[in-house]
Amino acid sequence: MNLDKQAILLDGNSDINEYLKGSLGCDCGREHSAAIKQIEIKENAIYSLIPYLKANSYRRPFLIFDKTTYKLAGDLLINLFNEANQAFSCHVIESPEPVPDEWAVGDILIHYDNSSDCIIGVGSGTINDLSRFVSFRLGIPYIIVATAPSMDGYASNVAPLIVNHLKTTYEAQTAHAIFADSSLLKSAPMNMLAAGIGDILGKYSCLCDWEIAHIVTDEYYCPTVAAIVKRSLEAVSSGIHAAAAKSNDAIRDVMNALVLSGIAMSYAGNSRPASGSEHHLSHYWEMTYLFEGRKPVLHGTKVGIGTIAVIRAFELLLSRKIDFDKARAAASSFDMHEWEADMTESFRQAAPTVIVLERQVGKNNPENVIRRINKLEANWNEIAKIIAGLPAADKIRSWLRALGAADSPMAIGIDRKLFIKSFAVAKELRNRYGLLQILFDLSLTEEIAEEVWEYFQQN
Ligand SMILES: [Zn+2]
Ligand SMILES: [Zn+2]
Repeated sequence: MNLDKQAILLDGNSDINEYLKGSLGCDCGREHSAAIKQIEIKENAIYSLIPYLKANSYRRPFLIFDKTTYKLAGDLLINLFNEANQAFSCHVIESPEPVPDEWAVGDILIHYDNSSDCIIGVGSGTINDLSRFVSFRLGIPYIIVATAPSMDGYASNVAPLIVNHLKTTYEAQTAHAIFADSSLLKSAPMNMLAAGIGDILGKYSCLCDWEIAHIVTDEYYCPTVAAIVKRSLEAVSSGIHAAAAKSNDAIRDVMNALVLSGIAMSYAGNSRPASGSEHHLSHYWEMTYLFEGRKPVLHGTKVGIGTIAVIRAFELLLSRKIDFDKARAAASSFDMHEWEADMTESFRQAAPTVIVLERQVGKNNPENVIRRINKLEANWNEIAKIIAGLPAADKIRSWLRALGAADSPMAIGIDRKLFIKSFAVAKELRNRYGLLQILFDLSLTEEIAEEVWEYFQQN
């Protein structure tokens, strides 16, 4: 990437649309591009929607709301469509908080108008996932009108749906355009804004995981993509108090960071720049809640707590004198049968997927573990420096507290047993090297998980 372009992308004041322009040749050796065509994050962005539809010759959009988002933006949007003589159809899911499951997909399809030529989802996480999935299956484009800065999936191209009580990620498509009107975003409840910020703060631990993985497993890493995410992340963390007061600039920075994190995933070709060990913990907690039929907790709320836990674990790791010889000896005694029995108990109906993954990649095989321990040992000084660059766990916690957000596993109903278990097994959901696998490799999982749990009890 030429230096001018790089400077624009790393400048906090650049228009987010700069990230969408063509394909960028990068020093990392890859071309980076994103499929989104237009992003409007500003006051009155909603008024750019109809000009966008007209400019792109859409004849009849199908709007999807839920009861909450209809109440928030339904009248406004429908008036705009009528005033502009823009044809449309519309469906309101009869729930204030729908779940992205088979029922909701069926509900949308039953009410779908066949003469529509695009879908406009009006909402945040669930509506966005459903619209992205249904439009993809119908083979028509989709556009999102964001109503809350609550999660970083706006620019994503996959749809996590709950099918047969199990969260499964389905292929879908990226939105053609995102409209995020700050006056709508501002009226979102504080817990949703705090969840969006929790999802963003998770980038601290995930970028740390990614950089260490690059050293230990030679995984692809792009410093420019990491720097783009980091810059937007720092804009948000330096404006926590402004966000707590719902200042326009702070809300815009949060939304920018949420959308940029999706663009960074497109750039990297996978979710590495946006999801690490903190997300694995969150996914495992979410699965357990689904199995047990418990009320779901917002994604970003869990990620925020996962971030404190992961950063605290990194701090504890740094404070230790690590016995690499002992770790190598322990790695050799790994028992696959015992491990499979543990997975069957921990992942219930999802266990086969986890076991198949391990059979394919062998991340827990003694020879792979020992190879990584050797790399950790040889590069420990460099790795320690990366870890030392993280903000303190206490800092993340104080930020979440300033937003009135849950700042401990107990606050969202996670007990000691589930917390310790999640440290041991959450990493099995993906083959993604990071904090949780490092603890496993060094045979420190249980010891450190207990200390992190203690940390939450004491503060
Ligand atoms: Zn790159
Ligand atoms: Zn997330």
